Amino acid sequence: MAILTSMSVFDEVNVFLDRASERLGLDDGVREMLRTPWRELQVSVPVRMDDGTLKIFKGYRVQHNGARGPYKGGVRYHPMADYEEVRALASLMTWKNALVNIPFGGAKGGVQCDPRTMSEGELKRLTRRYTTQIEHLIGVNRDIPAPDLGTNSQTMAWMMDSYSQIHGYTPGIVTGKPVELGGSVGRDSATGRGVAFVTREVARDLNVAAEGARIVVQGFGQVGSWTVRLLGEMGCKIIAVSDVDGGAYYPRGIDVGLLMQHKEEAGTVAGLRGSEPITNEELLELECEFLIPAAIDRVIDERNAPRVRAKVVIEAANHPLTPEADSILTERGITVVPDILVNAGGVIVSYFEWTQNLYQHQWEMDRVNDELNKIMTRAYKSVKERSDYEDITFREAAFLIGLERVARVAEMRGFI
Ligand code: NAD
Repeated sequence: MAILTSMSVFDEVNVFLDRASERLGLDDGVREMLRTPWRELQVSVPVRMDDGTLKIFKGYRVQHNGARGPYKGGVRYHPMADYEEVRALASLMTWKNALVNIPFGGAKGGVQCDPRTMSEGELKRLTRRYTTQIEHLIGVNRDIPAPDLGTNSQTMAWMMDSYSQIHGYTPGIVTGKPVELGGSVGRDSATGRGVAFVTREVARDLNVAAEGARIVVQGFGQVGSWTVRLLGEMGCKIIAVSDVDGGAYYPRGIDVGLLMQHKEEAGTVAGLRGSEPITNEELLELECEFLIPAAIDRVIDERNAPRVRAKVVIEAANHPLTPEADSILTERGITVVPDILVNAGGVIVSYFEWTQNLYQHQWEMDRVNDELNKIMTRAYKSVKERSDYEDITFREAAFLIGLERVARVAEMRGFI
């Protein structure tokens, strides 16, 4: 989708931040401190490709704010992963970690590449080189990467191994690892599970029966596929799903088991037997109770926001709405539940994983999911209460809570 705005994605995130700073009456210097990344690194990542050519990729690690603890945030492999995008995502991590009240600052990494066109060997070489390029910046008590768009537990295993070759066996350097290497059970499903918990809470508050509620999900990766599975188990009706190759629409409700099998065999959700094909653009405009973008940034902007027909938009992806789209949906009475709340399940279970690594201990699945439920539900309720009390949107409430917490700690530590 073409981006209409001339603002960068980082500028857009700062629009949300500025609104909250304004409301809190923060002075200009503090605002600037909260906006500005504390440390940024751009690296070049040379990779010998399978055809013998040498390709140089650009890599980034942005440490946005470390007031509340070690920096924490994923690593994205995507053609659009440039400085501005990584900065924006790092900033969102700061507010997310503060909102759900886990002891981390915010960071993000990225390599500008298209992992879909690269072999496993090329991705392994890229990951190893990227890790050694940022190695001096990360650390178990300094900055802990995790998977994001285009990366997964295998990527984290390679990162951990590259770091461990220099520092000795260090499982706590990344989260989202395979369980056999010190990963946490429940990490792969955590973000989707958090999305499902939030959807359940919103449905209850808005008096929408979750049973039979029509759900549309864009993106069928780590986040989207678990979201579909878990909402399906809650009795919701999944009417459409999509991925980068296209979508499947079945108004009577997709059989999730069949969908999983189809995706396994075909590598895409498109072409699901019995479904109607649908484009990603059309999917966003379907009438439904819950629209869940779970793929990439800025898929809803001022152009298509007037045509969204969902009752609630649940932001499972990071920054799926531009500020203009956010305002349009709000004016139209559509509830938007913001990314920094909705997709926090991943970093919450990453926090559990990091803790388990520090204590060389392994939690049971029930404990992981129960603790996740507790933290997500508490965070949701704090946002809902603040939103009701101040008569503001969920996003404004979420940013207010996050900003207050970071500003308070920055003051205690003597930064401001
Ligand atoms: P992923 O790489 O596992 O899956 C991404 C999915 O989106 C795939 O199905 C892909 O085909 C689809 N997609 C990619 N480009 C698309 C496009 N242009 N149109 C439609 N679909 C497209 O990534 P993920 O880990 O599931 O992350 C998805 C989103 O959730 C990202 O915004 C990410 O930052 C956010 N997120 C992820 C986690 C996590 O734990 N993985 C945590 C918090 C937030």
